[in-house]
Amino acid sequence: MTVFSAVLLALSGCVMMTGDAPAEYKETRLYYGTYVTIRCLYGEGTPISGIIARCWDEAGRIQTAMDVRSASGDVGRINASGGLGVRVGSGVYGLLKDSIEFSRLTGGAFDVTVYPLVEVWRTAARDNRLPDKAVLEEAKSKIGYQYVHLGGDNTVTLRKSGMKIDLGAIAKGYAVDRIARILSAGGIENFLVDAGGDIFCRGKNSSGSDWNVGIRDPIKAGGLIGSIRISGAAVTTSGDYERFYRIDGERFSHILNPATGYPGRTVISATVIAKTAEEADALATALCALEGEEGIRLTEKIDDVEAMVIEKADGELRMLTTEGFPDIKRKQ
Ligand code: ADP
Ligand code: MG
Repeated sequence: MTVFSAVLLALSGCVMMTGDAPAEYKETRLYYGTYVTIRCLYGEGTPISGIIARCWDEAGRIQTAMDVRSASGDVGRINASGGLGVRVGSGVYGLLKDSIEFSRLTGGAFDVTVYPLVEVWRTAARDNRLPDKAVLEEAKSKIGYQYVHLGGDNTVTLRKSGMKIDLGAIAKGYAVDRIARILSAGGIENFLVDAGGDIFCRGKNSSGSDWNVGIRDPIKAGGLIGSIRISGAAVTTSGDYERFYRIDGERFSHILNPATGYPGRTVISATVIAKTAEEADALATALCALEGEEGIRLTEKIDDVEAMVIEKADGELRMLTTEGFPDIKRKQ
């Protein structure tokens, strides 16, 4: 509790006024087990505190609804339903609908029903012992986005015994889009929202340029490989550098390949640029489950999406990008 409050204090919001220039608001809070930052520029007369309060309220509401470990949240209730239909809020219902679309689009590399496998790998890390083949097979048999039934009246039914859903690979992107929508609706035209590497930005930064977004170095903790300039778009980087399982001294990605039951092994980092943070988040996860070239080929087929993956093969690092991926300004 003490550590938590200390962090919040250190990160508490600040508003800077500089003459006639627009004021800047910047604040970071802890949600979804990561840091969420809102930065925006606003003119005089903007009811900024009300707008920002609505943004943080929304972040908290999404956290409760989508937390897989909360028994009272929508996702927790779906997972405890034992095959019966559960009525959920329109946020979770809509996101499940989108998730099923992304599962289809990625041939199941992104699968919202991966949770039984997540539980197996979490236990394996706790026991420091690789999972048995039989245990993996059993978990795999409970996966299948095709068995999530979305009925009328926001009702969700899991049609396979032992199935569980997990929106962890898309919820942060969704939250970023929701916050961005609240800012835009409040008349704020220049902003950047970042939830642990899921980013959406619009307009310009305080220097009048497109926003500069750093791409994390998958090898050097806390480092950047460079940055890209974007605006009016979302960018997400997923990788195994922040969250991973350690078993018997070996590091395993927290992104699992539902087809094999094993963590993605080749791609160590995937960066996706898309129109929404939700799409970028889902696709970045899928690209970490696939082989590098397979992921790039898949992305080339999707409109308005660009991607870069860094893969590790035979001890060498290789960077692959789609044709339209912007120039990366390298760190000196
Ligand atoms: P991060 O939270 O590090 O940004 P992601 O957005 O890629 O990472 O989400 C990773 C989380 O998604 C995992 O912790 C797990 O709960 C879930 N997950 C793992 N593999 C998959 C997958 N193939 N499809 C959908 N969700 C997954
Ligand atoms: Mg994701």
